[in-house]
Amino acid sequence: MSANRRDFIKFVVAGSIAAGCPIDLSLLSAETSRTNHVLLDSEDNRICHEVRDGKHFKIPPVAARHDVVIVGGGVSGLSAAYFLKDYDFLLLEKEPHFGGNAYLMDYRGVSYGTGSAFLVRDEDAFGFSQEIGLEPLAINNRDGSIIKGEWIADTWTDGLDHLPYSASIRDSFKKFKKQMLAIDLEKRGEELFNLPFSSLLKEYPQELTRWWDAYGRSNWGATATDTAAALAISDLQEIAGEEIPGFYTWPGGLGAISQKLAEILEARAAGSLQSGATTVAVTARRSDVLVTYIQGQEIKTVAAKSVIMATPKLITSRIIEHLSETQRQAMRQIRYIPYAVVNLIFDRPVFNKGYDTWCPGNTFTDIVVADWVVRNGAGYRQKYNILSCYTPMREVDRFKLLSDDGARQVAANVLTDFQKLFPGSNVDPVEVHIFRRGHPLYMSTPGLYTKVQPIVRQPMDRIFFANTDSEGPESTTNAAILAARRAVKEMKNRLAGVPAPKTAMLVY
Ligand SMILES: Cc1cc2nc3c(=O)[nH]c(=O)nc-3n(C[C@H](O)[C@H](O)[C@H](O)COP(=O)(O)OP(=O)(O)OC[C@H]3O[C@@H](n4cnc5c(N)ncnc54)[C@H](O)[C@@H]3O)c2cc1C
Repeated sequence: MSANRRDFIKFVVAGSIAAGCPIDLSLLSAETSRTNHVLLDSEDNRICHEVRDGKHFKIPPVAARHDVVIVGGGVSGLSAAYFLKDYDFLLLEKEPHFGGNAYLMDYRGVSYGTGSAFLVRDEDAFGFSQEIGLEPLAINNRDGSIIKGEWIADTWTDGLDHLPYSASIRDSFKKFKKQMLAIDLEKRGEELFNLPFSSLLKEYPQELTRWWDAYGRSNWGATATDTAAALAISDLQEIAGEEIPGFYTWPGGLGAISQKLAEILEARAAGSLQSGATTVAVTARRSDVLVTYIQGQEIKTVAAKSVIMATPKLITSRIIEHLSETQRQAMRQIRYIPYAVVNLIFDRPVFNKGYDTWCPGNTFTDIVVADWVVRNGAGYRQKYNILSCYTPMREVDRFKLLSDDGARQVAANVLTDFQKLFPGSNVDPVEVHIFRRGHPLYMSTPGLYTKVQPIVRQPMDRIFFANTDSEGPESTTNAAILAARRAVKEMKNRLAGVPAPKTAMLVY
């Protein structure tokens, strides 16, 4: 697309721009005056980066006392608060909104996702959503792919006969599928969680690796080389099975769960949820824990009988004082990828063929249609065709998201690739929204689930560890909820004086 044509497309950043990662506001006003501003939305990492760089904050005297302080208001922290019905809790979230990686936004009344997209019928998250008053909507669709400009429906079932490759490559896809479906994960789980997926792909043509590199990076942050094989095999067995997978969501994805939880908690315990509150230090004492946080210009300390850490471990490991070296090292072993979600907003139908479509070999890995689960509802008319382009990035490219220009370039590259993707895709969106995150998705690397995560989640007397990255084997909203359930149970036992079960720490 020519630079001129792009000048007329509105690249959009949502309202919290001033709260985002270092934002140069002068750039924004310059762009606005040319009517083609990029709206960038992102996490606020300024204080976290100061903690990372070793800044020490002076701890003020205790201003309040609570039963429990929850640090982090993603799905895990919010669920923990929900499970703590009879407790006096305080939840601290650094962003101006709750939801973390499960957060949805809205364009003129149409919800779109900035992260977590769908859940599975047999996950705890399904029943939990119903419990909080959300009825999950069936996606009822198998993943398609767009390869060499061709749309392939049902990639891993009927689609295998239509892949735009030579007959021998198509046969390799079929042979691979047969080999993977024959694996008994119950029996070989441990062995395969410690093995890189690439070792199973090495006899096969590179087209297979390319497809799985896109799928793996999007779902668990890792290419085949860095992926624990069991995870990919388990997913293939699900998406290539006889039944259409039981995947569910809402318009804009699983941000609906965070939104609903925040609504319930705000009604139940007004003032107990604090946003714009970045925790900088957690100090365990004999009879309580001190939590120090910065909110606006103020630095405050509260004391609690116990603390649930629902923050990612790269942050947790830096703000807890006196964490054992073994646990700190285990936490630091977890690798996280940078990830942007670029929403292309069209005022006409451009692509509505499948819910989640894989596009190997592009800047983005897959496209999700934001309103898929309501599109066939009585009287529904699609006002905007919003396509969420999932854009996981390599760790070495994280710096690209740190500047506005870098993030704009990522969004522009996504748009360029999309407009070449299939005949009919060369259409200009009315707006392009990019939501960038520096470390949102941990990589499910070989050995992480079996050897590292069991160490990471060990309680530290009055401090308990939630967040999806405590749980495994993959970063999911379900694991975030399960981690909250476990941490709350451990905490209740501790406060009731029930001795913690002796769990052996795995040595790795
Ligand atoms: C692009 C993308 C797509 C995904 N798709 C899916 C999917 O389809 N299905 C699925 O199940 N899962 C998906 N996931 C994974 C899922 O979104 C996460 O596993 C889940 O949202 C994690 O929730 P959490 O509460 O454990 O962690 P987080 O969402 O990381 O929440 C942690 C919270 O802590 C806050 N915080 C951090 N530091 C501090 C501090 N110092 N003080 C106070 N607060 C702090 C953060 O701002 C954040 O809100 C996806 C993830 C991404 C990034």
